[in-house]
Amino acid sequence: MIQIIKGDITQIKADAIVNAANNSLMGGGGVDGAIHKAGGPAILEDCKKILARQGGCRTGEAVITTAGNLPAGYVIHTVGPVWNGGKNGEPELLYHCYQNALKLARDHQCKTIAFPNISTGVYRFPKPLAAETAHRSIRDFLESSEHRISEVIIVCFDDENYQINREIV
Ligand code: ADP
Repeated sequence: MIQIIKGDITQIKADAIVNAANNSLMGGGGVDGAIHKAGGPAILEDCKKILARQGGCRTGEAVITTAGNLPAGYVIHTVGPVWNGGKNGEPELLYHCYQNALKLARDHQCKTIAFPNISTGVYRFPKPLAAETAHRSIRDFLESSEHRISEVIIVCFDDENYQINREIV
């Protein structure tokens, strides 16, 4: 089941929440900054270990860490594509972000997972195409994979994403 809500993802009590991170995993602005600020330093400590082990996270891929002080069980960090006109594989990369985050959630026995609107902030991905891609990727995963995921929550921070996402479900 896909649920659309308006709110702040740092307050969601899901088994996993997803962060729209960057390749360095060293934090940033937007939802990334909000998650690190609310979750405390334990999240960055885990990110530093991943950075040392595998040199960060490639665009479209995902890694998992503690959720620190957040009410969620885990934070899954995925790196969305920067929008550069759409001819550089941006939709496919965004599709992979959702797939790879959902695979990590499945592999950690999560039943509930919350996503922000990945890439629609400073990475400038057009919101309608981002929403359509997110819903398609989530639906494909829920239908095709063996998993225990019963609820996927799309947490919209701004009104525009909220309206666009509600029209798709
Ligand atoms: P990106 O670099 O992937 O574009 P941003 O953090 O700039 O990441 O924006 C991604 C989306 O996250 C935007 O739609 C933004 O409105 C939203 N966002 C910002 N803060 C929060 C938050 N606390 N909870 C949920 N979504 C948020």
